[in-house]
Amino acid sequence: MELKKIGKLLEKELDYKRFEHTKGVEYTAASLAMVHGADIEKAMYAGLLHDCAKAIEDSEKIKLCEKYGLSVNDIERSNPGLLHAKLGAYLAKSIYEVDDPEILGAIEWHTTGHPGMTLLEKIVFIADYIEPNRKHLDNMDEVRKLAFTDLDGAVRRVLKDTLTYLGEGTKAVDPMTKETYEYYKDLK
Ligand code: FE
Ligand code: FE
Repeated sequence: MELKKIGKLLEKELDYKRFEHTKGVEYTAASLAMVHGADIEKAMYAGLLHDCAKAIEDSEKIKLCEKYGLSVNDIERSNPGLLHAKLGAYLAKSIYEVDDPEILGAIEWHTTGHPGMTLLEKIVFIADYIEPNRKHLDNMDEVRKLAFTDLDGAVRRVLKDTLTYLGEGTKAVDPMTKETYEYYKDLK
């Protein structure tokens, strides 16, 4: 499916703020792809579709994952919001006709990352965090600069800060976020 058509469908599917965020991730991922030598079109597809399952109700997310044979662990069961990434990858393929495994991987791993991410996965992970509509966090200026100069450094920084913020709050941390940080922490 063409980017334009997907954009039209998502504009109806997502609320105004989520759609603005989605467009922000699309063009930020494209810019990062230019700087780091990734495929620009793939970055745009992954950015545009990364939150395509976000508007689905939580109980429905669990039901759909079970229906499509996607695993749901205990942490995801109590925080179904976490499922929007893997469900999004599934919908990108089944509804939005994206077959490219690189794009699907970037959608699937955009929230937690994973050890040894591909370039495209890192780009979407970071674009999701730094796109211009994002709430301005203390570390934002630094992370935005790092994103264009030292991508692994930006990944490390975002994971570290995410674990710090989430650790303090009530939101559950997906264990994969920690695993990803352990990997990137020592990567120099
Ligand atoms: Fe997301
Ligand atoms: Fe997002």
